[in-house]
Amino acid sequence: MAIIASTPPPGLPFSLDYPGVPAGSILAGAAARYGSRTAYVLGGESRTFAETYTAACRFANALRAHGIGRGDVVAVHLPNCLAYPVAYHGTLLAGATFSPANPLLPPDDLAFQLTDCGATAVVTHGAAAKTVAAVAGRIPARLRIVVSPQDELGEGSVEFGEFLAGAPDSRPDVEIDVHRELAHLAYTGGTTGRSKGVELTHYNIVANTVQYGCWSSGSVPALDANGDVVLDQIGSAAEWPTRLGTGVTINLTPWFHAMGVIAGLNCALLTGTTIALQARFDPAAFVAEAERLRVTSLGGAPALFAALLATPSFHTADLSSVCTIGSGAAPMSHEMFRALQERFPEVLIAEGYGLTEVTMGAISSPPYRSGVRKVGSVGRPIFDTELKLVAMGSEEPLPYGQEGEVCVRGPQLMRGYRNRQEETADALVQGWLHTGDIGVLDEDGYLSIVDRKKDMLLYKGYNVFPRELEELLLTLPGVLGAAVVGRPRDDVGELPVAFVVRQPGSEVDATQLISAVNERVLPYKRLRELYFVDEIPVSAAGKVLKRELRKRLPEPN
Ligand code: AMP
Repeated sequence: MAIIASTPPPGLPFSLDYPGVPAGSILAGAAARYGSRTAYVLGGESRTFAETYTAACRFANALRAHGIGRGDVVAVHLPNCLAYPVAYHGTLLAGATFSPANPLLPPDDLAFQLTDCGATAVVTHGAAAKTVAAVAGRIPARLRIVVSPQDELGEGSVEFGEFLAGAPDSRPDVEIDVHRELAHLAYTGGTTGRSKGVELTHYNIVANTVQYGCWSSGSVPALDANGDVVLDQIGSAAEWPTRLGTGVTINLTPWFHAMGVIAGLNCALLTGTTIALQARFDPAAFVAEAERLRVTSLGGAPALFAALLATPSFHTADLSSVCTIGSGAAPMSHEMFRALQERFPEVLIAEGYGLTEVTMGAISSPPYRSGVRKVGSVGRPIFDTELKLVAMGSEEPLPYGQEGEVCVRGPQLMRGYRNRQEETADALVQGWLHTGDIGVLDEDGYLSIVDRKKDMLLYKGYNVFPRELEELLLTLPGVLGAAVVGRPRDDVGELPVAFVVRQPGSEVDATQLISAVNERVLPYKRLRELYFVDEIPVSAAGKVLKRELRKRLPEPN
């Protein structure tokens, strides 16, 4: 039976002391520590840590002038832009709850989310503001703050700059009960079912930010003279190549997603990392910018690395400044890990595993030099986090080597789902979160994610994990991308069907690929059909949209 605890990185303590401060303290601490260093760059514009803090305080005071503060929810319906950190941290500094919304949500989904979270105000942007206007009569929000408006502003709407103008830039005095009050109300589950609001307290946000900030930089948390959270680096430079206040990265992960908001808008503050933004993703422009800015880390979902590996300049540009690569949000194939390690033999490639319900993350491969990284594994639990695998319907930890549901426990676990007691009770059992992912542990306590429970297929009662077939397809010549879904059939359950993206110029055909896979798997896992597509659809956060693919299944013959 195995419950896996975290292993402290070299020179760091086993357990961290999480400051009981509100989440707004993260930006306040960064402004005091890294003041005039650049926090964000977009095109020709940039903002320092201190400027971001001042603007966020203004935003907080302006919200309070509208009567918005503790107990209120502010929905942020923006793409990544320079206004985002201001709206995000300003909401937290006002004592209100931040609820992110994807600006590309269709009207009905947006109306559902904004009603479910009960947002009093919405911060929106340019074209996305039209969707908010279209659902205005169906949502409770009484205030709309619009960045770069395209249309005339109607009743209840104000332009972002005007909203800030004249508001005091001192930090509002707000008392927050960090264990009870919500910092984030984040919606999840959209790729597989109806979306649910995940309730995260201020303590959750500070804990997970400190866990990852310390993990990636060899630090411990402390309080500065103002009582705000900062990091003290105690790990050696030989172990952690990027030092506090020296990192530069390009952030493409959307800030409306857990990985974006925690890594991009919080951990980067604690570690004093400069973030460059790109208005839209163009892999060649990304590489040119990474070279020009001498970025120290590359981070994102595997979909980003797939695009970069397919870009010729990625293989020739001078990217010698890169020290670390961090991947998360979706599984990185073994092929991709090897290709990246070949391109960057000296770079630490660390995979992280998490979900919105654990704020961002719980399991990671070590981001320090002497740590063991294993191809195909997402690593071991981070500080103060425990991991076990269980059989369905059981709480007993399974032994090493047996597949089971991944369960985690730690200070980053959500309070629950908003207004969904039954779903909360199913997910949180005796302090453990049941993640809905299937994994397996090796003897060193390293976790590999086998697949999501929801994506697993049942063929005549046998479990078939699409990821095993996808990994096999990706090893075959001519295959650039692959995703496997089930075709329901009354007599047997589900049959595995593959969607494949061919490498440019490849003429490999479906029969060849099906036989190459089927020679290597047990009979009940055999692929029955294979279709070529131009691309595998992924969400903005980088997750394969299996639901979309199921819709594309041709009618059975
Ligand atoms: P979200 O709550 O949107 O972040 O989605 C969380 C889900 O993403 C998890 O339950 C996993 O299924 C998947 N996921 C996240 N990170 C990884 C990873 N490193 N490897 C495999 N799956 C992952």
